[in-house]
Amino acid sequence: MKNASVLIPLLILLAVAASGHAGDLALPEKARCVQCGMKCVPDSPFTAVLEVEGPDGSRLPFCDVGELLIHAKEHKGEEPGKYRVRDFHNLEWIDAEMAFYVKAPKYLSPMRWNIAAFKQRADASKEGKPMNFTEAMESLQ
Ligand SMILES: [Zn+2]
Repeated sequence: MKNASVLIPLLILLAVAASGHAGDLALPEKARCVQCGMKCVPDSPFTAVLEVEGPDGSRLPFCDVGELLIHAKEHKGEEPGKYRVRDFHNLEWIDAEMAFYVKAPKYLSPMRWNIAAFKQRADASKEGKPMNFTEAMESLQ
């Protein structure tokens, strides 16, 4: 009886974990940014990841959208994996190369790159001048 009371919640936990779809990129509590070593805030709209392709399927976290863009710029042509950012409004994980970016001082991102990502161009347009992935990378001169 005692074993069952432990086992059942455990099975529920496993079922919940298994149901997590590919778009769910929850970061571990102590994830540190690969660019600056700063702790990443898991529910921040500026937290971003690089999903490394390969058998280990590791995820490299970034504390700031700007840091992901710098990393992408530095590794251009190497295609180390899929870059993911979060939609500024609903925190949905989106493909960084398909996202629209707006740079504005009001965003106050952790490393002060102050760039927010949006899934829809229309949402980005309401916030400022939208940039695509390449333009956002080039804006970090
Ligand atoms: Zn960082």
